Amino acid sequence: MLGYVLDEIFVQHRAPSGHPERPARAEAVRDALLKAGIVERGTQVPIREATDEELARVHSGGYLDDLVRTIPGKTGWIDADTYYSPRSWEAARAAAGATSRLALDVMRGELSQGIAVVRPPGHHAERDRGMGFCLLNNVAVAAAAARAHGATRVAIVVWDVDHGNGTQDIFWDDPSVLYLSIHQYPYYPGTGAPSEIGGPNALGTTVNVGLPSGSGDAEYLAVFDHVIVPALESFAPDLIFVSAGFDAFQHDPLAGMRVTFAGFAAMAARLRSVADRLAGGRIVVVLEGGYDLDGLAGGMTNVLAVLKRPALEPIALTPLPAFTGSVAGLARAAIDATLAAHHAHGPLAAKPTR
Ligand SMILES: [Zn+2]
Repeated sequence: MLGYVLDEIFVQHRAPSGHPERPARAEAVRDALLKAGIVERGTQVPIREATDEELARVHSGGYLDDLVRTIPGKTGWIDADTYYSPRSWEAARAAAGATSRLALDVMRGELSQGIAVVRPPGHHAERDRGMGFCLLNNVAVAAAAARAHGATRVAIVVWDVDHGNGTQDIFWDDPSVLYLSIHQYPYYPGTGAPSEIGGPNALGTTVNVGLPSGSGDAEYLAVFDHVIVPALESFAPDLIFVSAGFDAFQHDPLAGMRVTFAGFAAMAARLRSVADRLAGGRIVVVLEGGYDLDGLAGGMTNVLAVLKRPALEPIALTPLPAFTGSVAGLARAAIDATLAAHHAHGPLAAKPTR
């Protein structure tokens, strides 16, 4: 049974006027999932706040103390992009806690898969600081919880259009967590070069593919078929998280990518296929960015449809982009740069080229 997290608290993280990371985002996804019948097709997982122990696994005591001292009950900014409102601390703790609960229920076999519609998002939150609209790193907290409760290896795929610098920072030197990011590059926050492959104890378990602005379904699926899926197959995780932003959507107002709903569905199908084959089907999809309401709604309902499909059709391998045309050629160069950076270390090095 698929588990899902939807809750009013995630609308109570109130944005300053005009801010793109606004409560309507969670409402749009919630309304679309309800319309798609998620109540009949899954089971709702009640929220809970992340415990101090859970948060301390991925965030420093100093940063957590700062948040507790600064945020609860107040309105303000922790940096130029990242605001808080009176109930933001409650929402942030619930986002991290509910994602953890969902992941642990999946690990225990009480649920087969999960979708968490939470705010504030998490992938930019580093061990020592929040940024990029993110306060606590929801997926990192949940991945660490899964590791503490029986998962030997966890994979995190970040298809948000921004580089998930926070998640990379937290698991940089941890060989038990495979971090895979496909992002617009160069772009926010500037990290995510192919040469970033992990710390000395975890070389090769950080994988970055930075695609040029203008990339669409063909470029994204080529990265999945030639980098992300092979790395997952080699790593053989017990659980796969997806940091699912929908800001690579073709009509997103902030970023410059051209991914369609079919593209998001095809990416989800690839990850479900790996999860089914290698991870007992265990996959947890967590909302991150995405600022076009239709893109968010359609993106997540397509993910739900893929997760609920009784069986997956065979997936044809997407060809590597040709070295022609500006976007395709740059995308091919990006894939080659990542594969070259991983030739000697980690799961991509261990995997024969397809
Ligand atoms: Zn983003």
